[in-house]
Amino acid sequence: MNNPDIQTCLSQYWGYPGLREAQKPVIAEVMEGKSAFVIMPTGGGKSMCYQLPAMLKAGLTLVISPLIALMKDQVDDLRLKGIEAAYLNSSQHPDEYNRIFNSIGSGTLKLLYIAPERLMSMQGGLLEQLKSVKIDMVAVDEAHCISSWGHDFRPAYTKLKDLGTHFPDVPVLALTATADQATKRDIIKQLGLENAALFENSFDRPEIHYAAKPRTDEKAQLLAFVAKHPSESGIVYCLSRKRTQEIAEVLQSAGYRATCYHAGLSSQERMERQDQFIRDEVDIIAATIAFGMGIDKNNVRYVVHMNLPKNIEGYYQETGRAGRDGLDSQALLLHGGSDFHTLSTHCQVDGNLDQSNVMLGKLRRMQDFADSRVCRRKILLQYFGEELAEDCGKCDNCETTFEQHEGTEDAQKLLSTVARLEWSFGLGHYIDILRGSQSQKITAAHRALSTYGIGADKSKKHWMSIGKELIQQGFLTQTVGKYPVVELNARSWAVLHGKEPVMLTKFEETKTVKPPRAAAFEAGSENQTLFHKLRQVRYDLAKASNVPSYLILSDRSLQELCVTKPQNLTELASVHGFGKVKVARFGQQFLDALQQAEA
Ligand code: ADP
Ligand code: ZN
Repeated sequence: MNNPDIQTCLSQYWGYPGLREAQKPVIAEVMEGKSAFVIMPTGGGKSMCYQLPAMLKAGLTLVISPLIALMKDQVDDLRLKGIEAAYLNSSQHPDEYNRIFNSIGSGTLKLLYIAPERLMSMQGGLLEQLKSVKIDMVAVDEAHCISSWGHDFRPAYTKLKDLGTHFPDVPVLALTATADQATKRDIIKQLGLENAALFENSFDRPEIHYAAKPRTDEKAQLLAFVAKHPSESGIVYCLSRKRTQEIAEVLQSAGYRATCYHAGLSSQERMERQDQFIRDEVDIIAATIAFGMGIDKNNVRYVVHMNLPKNIEGYYQETGRAGRDGLDSQALLLHGGSDFHTLSTHCQVDGNLDQSNVMLGKLRRMQDFADSRVCRRKILLQYFGEELAEDCGKCDNCETTFEQHEGTEDAQKLLSTVARLEWSFGLGHYIDILRGSQSQKITAAHRALSTYGIGADKSKKHWMSIGKELIQQGFLTQTVGKYPVVELNARSWAVLHGKEPVMLTKFEETKTVKPPRAAAFEAGSENQTLFHKLRQVRYDLAKASNVPSYLILSDRSLQELCVTKPQNLTELASVHGFGKVKVARFGQQFLDALQQAEA
């Protein structure tokens, strides 16, 4: 699309050289006044699909958004760019609400963000007020919230079914980052998008490296991982409030700037901690999944899950918070123990068996992803209906050669231990017997078994991995329930009778591929020193404007400044992210900092 208005508007307000390929057709459709449905991964640039048309059209664009924090962030972002935007939600002071309500008719406002329950409530005359002005488009962000097939169903969203009745000729733009097939169909039906164009983009996030590992020594595993990312921004997701505290303490005592975040904190505390993270005053935040939905800090370099997430949608969305600036980022998942069983209880939706089964099925797919030894990106993309022709080469499974070796003898040792006991126990108990453990839990009778101590040559971790693999390969059955135990099955007997051989995979980490970071930003390099200086400038500016650092400028823009070292405001204007307003407001400070560094 060669619309000069689009180019001008984009460079003036956003400081971007052009639209992304995926944005072009959507914006073309929207500019023709047509409805559309956009599925684009997190970080893909969905907001631009309605923000830019809103600037080019005469009237007002409504944006329906489920999260108050997200609204505020987007509106702050737009205002910093010199764009007239506002939001209406239930957290607002009535005076503020009235001021914005009254400004709707004035014609200066370009974008108005509204929570769905606000828009559709019949009180206060908001609908009437909106009907009295020219509405160019209604953008429904996070459209998957409308569907009970989705992973984040919000009943207030179902009221949006009536959008067509209230605004009959106004085009609707539905946007989401995650929707499986059933959810997609539901969105189309409820928002009446049967005839609208569907723009489906690849779910691939090539900048994210995926890895999943059994949780063995979680603290050591976490510290080893974090040590590879000093002073980078990261989120560590935990299942409970208590765990977020523990993990934050572990990180703090190892010298990291870390804090925790969960729903048990006062809203004041939550806001402070979120701000600290956003402002880069804290590098790592250990949080429950309550954290992150409302923020799109774009320089998050890694996301760690300390437990299995509830479903692939959640995992994809949470890991998607890394690398939104397009720079290389890591997703690490640690899983095991009782994760599956704990989470399966969370899958119960009261009085709704169907919904419970949907959730449980999604949890199983998540567990399969974690256990799998095939390319993780392939599994993720397949889940969202995409085929990846070749392995990605950028996940732990692609980087690992799984060497097979004869494991029949080891399997027999473990299986015969299971066979010798009268009752069924958890896997760990059999392994303790095998290894000749002195633990009190091993009774005299168990110590008298002929298999007691015959596996002392291998570590507990090694045996656990053999046991888990036997389960995965179907040579041993693990029961479902609160206290899973392992039991023999027909194939176990085939192995014990020497009728079926067992091949086990041997973990062999190949050389770990170093994240291909721009060489120019190696630790201790000149560029990195400059980068830190500019980061401080950004921090000070953010503090003075009372907004998060990343809204001032992205890491990518700072890196570009370090490399291009612009000498004046004109040169600065061609740096990524510097629109007219930002050049005027912040340009000189960055030029000064660059000049000082040169001197
Ligand atoms: P989403 O809502 O799809 O997760 P956002 O709308 O938050 O993604 O955009 C992600 C990032 O990409 C933001 O930092 C945004 O400014 C940037 N971005 C969007 N469109 C462009 C573009 N055309 N050129 C450069 N950067 C862009
Ligand atoms: Zn891969």
